[in-house]
Amino acid sequence: MIEENIFFQKNYAVVGNPNSGKTTLFNALTGLRQKVGNYPGVTVEKKLGQFIGQHGEKIELLDLPGTYSLSAHAPDECVTRDVLLGLRSDTPRPDRILCVIDASHLERNLYFITQVLELGIPTIIALNMIDLAQAQGTTIDITKLSSELDVPVIACQANAKETLLPLKIALSRAEITRSSWSQQLPSPWARAIDGVAAIWTHDEEKISQRDPLVRMKSLLLLASPDTEIEGLAKEMNAGSLLGIALAQRSMLDRELPSWREVLVSARYERIMELCQAAQGRTSSTSETMTHHLDEFLTHPVWGWFGFFSVMGLMFISIFVVAAYPMSWIEGAFGCVGNLIREFMPQGDLRDLMCDGIIAGIGGVVTFLPQILILFFFIGLLEDTGYMARAAFLMDRVMSKVGLHGKSFIPLLSSYACAIPGIMATRTIENAKDRLVTILVAPLMSCSARLPVYALMIAALFPAGSVSLWMKGALMMGLYIFGTSAALGFAWLFKKTILRGETSIFLMELPPYRCPVLKHVFLQMMQRAGMFLKRAGTVILGISILLWFVASFPKSNLEKSNHDKSSQLEESYAGRFGHFIEPVIAPLGFDWKIGIGLVAAQAAREVFISTLAIIYHVENDDETPSSLSTTLMKETRPNGMLVYTPLTCLSILVFFVLSMQCISTLSVVRRETNSLLWPLFQFCYMTGAAYLASFLVYQGGKLLGFI
Ligand code: GDP
Ligand code: MG
Repeated sequence: MIEENIFFQKNYAVVGNPNSGKTTLFNALTGLRQKVGNYPGVTVEKKLGQFIGQHGEKIELLDLPGTYSLSAHAPDECVTRDVLLGLRSDTPRPDRILCVIDASHLERNLYFITQVLELGIPTIIALNMIDLAQAQGTTIDITKLSSELDVPVIACQANAKETLLPLKIALSRAEITRSSWSQQLPSPWARAIDGVAAIWTHDEEKISQRDPLVRMKSLLLLASPDTEIEGLAKEMNAGSLLGIALAQRSMLDRELPSWREVLVSARYERIMELCQAAQGRTSSTSETMTHHLDEFLTHPVWGWFGFFSVMGLMFISIFVVAAYPMSWIEGAFGCVGNLIREFMPQGDLRDLMCDGIIAGIGGVVTFLPQILILFFFIGLLEDTGYMARAAFLMDRVMSKVGLHGKSFIPLLSSYACAIPGIMATRTIENAKDRLVTILVAPLMSCSARLPVYALMIAALFPAGSVSLWMKGALMMGLYIFGTSAALGFAWLFKKTILRGETSIFLMELPPYRCPVLKHVFLQMMQRAGMFLKRAGTVILGISILLWFVASFPKSNLEKSNHDKSSQLEESYAGRFGHFIEPVIAPLGFDWKIGIGLVAAQAAREVFISTLAIIYHVENDDETPSSLSTTLMKETRPNGMLVYTPLTCLSILVFFVLSMQCISTLSVVRRETNSLLWPLFQFCYMTGAAYLASFLVYQGGKLLGFI
């Protein structure tokens, strides 16, 4: 019986990238003859199945979890690695491997596959999803691929059983050979591997240093992240392994500082060559279109040109298109205010309605059209597939600061709001990278900053003084400033408190699609709903509170316009503003702006409602004018204008950098499970904001601006 098994039973481990069709193929081959269990100690499913081969022999398949690389971190990926390295006592090392490749993503799949080939286990490659590759207009020269990789390659379509016969025949073959594929590495790497491999050679003389398994084990150990190397060495179970591996790594650090990147890029280079040789294109028109567009949009130079054009268009339309609905909303709130003034008896309640609620909420809601346009563009860019290209473009920048391209997606969503952005960091496996991304995400200019930017830009440039191009460019500059600050701080944190290596970003570029406007609109409306809900709750509450602290205690003086402003000065808010004025005066801010800044700690747009309330309470104007015109007339006690270009700029810089959002801080607390990190985030951002505004204002004064 046992003899028979050795002769007739063939055991294959089925491996491949996630979604390459392993399970579909496994099911198609084994049908109902499956056993499903769990790997002890982890919640990873273990699936075994059998089928009868072409010569009546039993063939057993083990469906291993999908993975992109042998140097993987997630628990299920570790199971695959450990089984292939023979490190699991519950599962014997497979004597044959069936690699499943998604033919429509050949390059990405080959990264893992070539690692598997280097294990020195006889392997067969199933070139799956061949139908999708064809539909894409890709042709694959299978003979070429097979001869380059030095293993049998068989095309198939797992979800069409009639295509599987050639694969079954291959799996039944009595003998399959080991691939001679191996990766050339620069000499420090080769020496480091030799150094580590020597351990196993000592232990057991039969094993040669050239043994592929030994070499792959050494390589994976050397390449493993700092946090994992100790565990992996223990798992590999060879005496002084950790010490030797660490010594070789410091040798690599000295002689080849970019050793980690070299390891990945060397493999990719060879894969690219291979793909170029084995892959051809029959061009369908839409394919060539995508291809040409991508060549432009992901080009290292033209790509940025495209990127900035798209962004520029977005910021200009934020001004141009939004101007009309904004004036309507402003008018409507003005009308309501006038009606109340006319029909309600004079008194505190009327003041609360007009100066508190209507001024506060109106001030913020006026910016709804601009926020809608921002979301419209973000939705449009996501839906057409351009966002993925932008992330691809940014990956080059991201890797310079030591972050994964994966971090760019959360950062990109932080343009809308940091909260979903921070939640999206959950897809980043590396704990330090994730924390860095969380820490810098609120530096990306979120939509709550948009009203502040817009108001200050309006105050900076009186109507008609400069073209919309200038306003759009300044707005875009603020976004770029925020983004650069995020990248700069990420770099700093990766260099200092959160050191660690960068992993490699694998991203697919989805084909371009015509956006579904319904989608885009729906999303826009949902976000608008969220914005209005905030206006109706948080901002309403704070507005009432602010009106109260700005109107009480009442001074006994007679009510004239002059006394109204001294009344504001003597109110709780006024006293508080004067109290903090010395701290913020070096930034060019007066006590009224100070009240706004403190109130805006709750949420950035509250700054607007606060200013609206303060100036309303102060000027009992019967004809309300827009907030930006009020700002432009505001003077200091010495008669100088408050909102000079320099002060506006200083406020803008402050808002780009500072952490003013209680909701974000509470989400950071939840996601990092600590109080320390949100506190740190608040301090470093507020500190940076203060410093930058200080430099802008004092520097500007030195240069002779006012
Ligand atoms: P796994 O993650 O590798 O186990 O992948 P699955 O077997 O779950 O397959 C992922 C998806 O690809 C499923 O929706 C399958 O139906 C589909 N699929 C698998 N093989 C093929 C194929 O050859 N052609 C096409 N068009 N789809 C396939
Ligand atoms: Mg599966």
